[in-house]
Amino acid sequence: MERTKLTYDELLNEVDELRYQLEEANDAIDAIRTGQVDALVIQGEEGHQLYTLKTADQTYRMFIEKMNEGAVTINESGLILYANSRFAGMVNIPLEKVIGFPFETFIPAEQQNKYNQLIKSAWKEECKEEIELLSFQHENVSCLLSCNTLELDEGLALSLILTDLTIQKDAERQLKVRNTQLAEAQAATERLNDELEETVKIRTADLLISREHFKLLANNMPQMTWTNLPDGTPNFYNQRWEEYAGFNLLDNNDRRKILIHPDDFELTTEKFNASIQSGEVFEVENRYRRADGTYRWHLNRALPFKDDAGNILFWMGTATDIEEQKRAMEKKDEFIGIASHELKTPITSLKGYLQLISHKKETLPDVVKQYIDKAIISLNKLQRLIDDLLDVSKIQAGRLEYAMHLVDITELVRQCTENARHVYPNYNFENTAETGLVVIGNEERLEQVVMNLINNAVKYSPDDNNVLISAVKRDEQVRVSVTDNGIGLSPEQKERIFERFYRVEDKKYMSSGLGMGLYISKEIINHHLGKIGVDSALGKGSSFYFELPLA
Ligand code: ADP
Repeated sequence: MERTKLTYDELLNEVDELRYQLEEANDAIDAIRTGQVDALVIQGEEGHQLYTLKTADQTYRMFIEKMNEGAVTINESGLILYANSRFAGMVNIPLEKVIGFPFETFIPAEQQNKYNQLIKSAWKEECKEEIELLSFQHENVSCLLSCNTLELDEGLALSLILTDLTIQKDAERQLKVRNTQLAEAQAATERLNDELEETVKIRTADLLISREHFKLLANNMPQMTWTNLPDGTPNFYNQRWEEYAGFNLLDNNDRRKILIHPDDFELTTEKFNASIQSGEVFEVENRYRRADGTYRWHLNRALPFKDDAGNILFWMGTATDIEEQKRAMEKKDEFIGIASHELKTPITSLKGYLQLISHKKETLPDVVKQYIDKAIISLNKLQRLIDDLLDVSKIQAGRLEYAMHLVDITELVRQCTENARHVYPNYNFENTAETGLVVIGNEERLEQVVMNLINNAVKYSPDDNNVLISAVKRDEQVRVSVTDNGIGLSPEQKERIFERFYRVEDKKYMSSGLGMGLYISKEIINHHLGKIGVDSALGKGSSFYFELPLA
């Protein structure tokens, strides 16, 4: 037909005709849907065909129309005879464009085979399967397609019910994702667990090795060793203890205590408790009873082992047998005692003769006088050394004894200051002693202490010649101090200077001395139930002091 030849009126007529047909078609579809009409004419290969629905029932169709599932009826050629609005919504196409089309139009290419198979078997028996539906403008819709044959007057038809599985699919997908995540997390946990187990295994092995190693080491050490919990409770003694004491120390709490010599028990417990309290190194010399009943001297030392935060984890102690050294020391002290005693007599007579010569009436040549003065100074030094040696040996033997009387400390300090001014004319001695300070003590011994402190103040102040001597009342005590501006002492030195024969090893300031003065001074002050100490800092001078109870 040559369309260009149609007149305008003819075209208008044609449009009207078409609109009329369309309205008719729409009415027909609506009528079928709502159950007003029970038949449908479809243009097939063999001309027009009329379909009527056997079960045409208005209520039933209304129900189908409102269903949440897509409902479609197809004939044997697969053409859609009926579809509800839900189906049109699923494929996203107006309902009027659905009816009369082959159902396979709405099946994606890759699902065609599956669909054909399903439909083929659906004609024989009821069946259902998941299938994708082409949804124009949207992603494909996953559906469960349930097929049922329907008997129409014109022959068999197939009812297809499509349940939208999108939500289930989504949930399924999410579930899958969650499952995968869960599986991953589980795998990670398992891995972690394995690693942890491995670490624990290694650590346990390490621990075992180190414990065994420690035991082996501890049991083969020549010393007796032990460990304590932070509160001091012992929790390990090495084999040597049992060999020495003749019993197991851990199992015999009470017997363990009587191991310590009764004379050393108090000092040992006192020092040990002080260390547990302060966390500082424990060190004491005491005698332990051997299995055969004899006592041997031991040097005990225990160190605290701390964690990174400084908390004590345990104490590790050693007791070293120093019996031999003690014996050797005793012999040496004995020898020093005898030797210094023997030296005292010739020195005294030597000094006497020198003094006789210097006091002779005849005038001596100046140079001889000078030599005699120098000899007397040296002799005095020698005498002091011998006196100190003798004192030390007496202290060691516990024989430094002296009578106690009332002593005027103010007067004693005055005399010592006078003496110092005489001996060290180049030094300034300031005395600020308060009056009326009386103690019970031994004047000679206390003078020895003050003079020792003054001598040291001079000896260890090479660049400053000021020394301050003071005596003040403090509570019911008198505190005597000698202060210099000399080389001073480091904290470590301060801790050790009262030990016997201890001297600071500084070549620069080395001066004569044997490291006995402060040791003797401490013994004397202890004997007076007093306290001796020092305030000092390296390079800042020192202030040595002692305190005694006032009488
Ligand atoms: P020494 O005979 O060596 O002086 P001491 O027992 O009197 O023996 O002193 C012990 C050590 O203490 C000295 O060697 C010295 O190092 C130190 N010392 C004592 N007094 C002072 C002081 N006033 N200033 C600095 N160091 C001192």
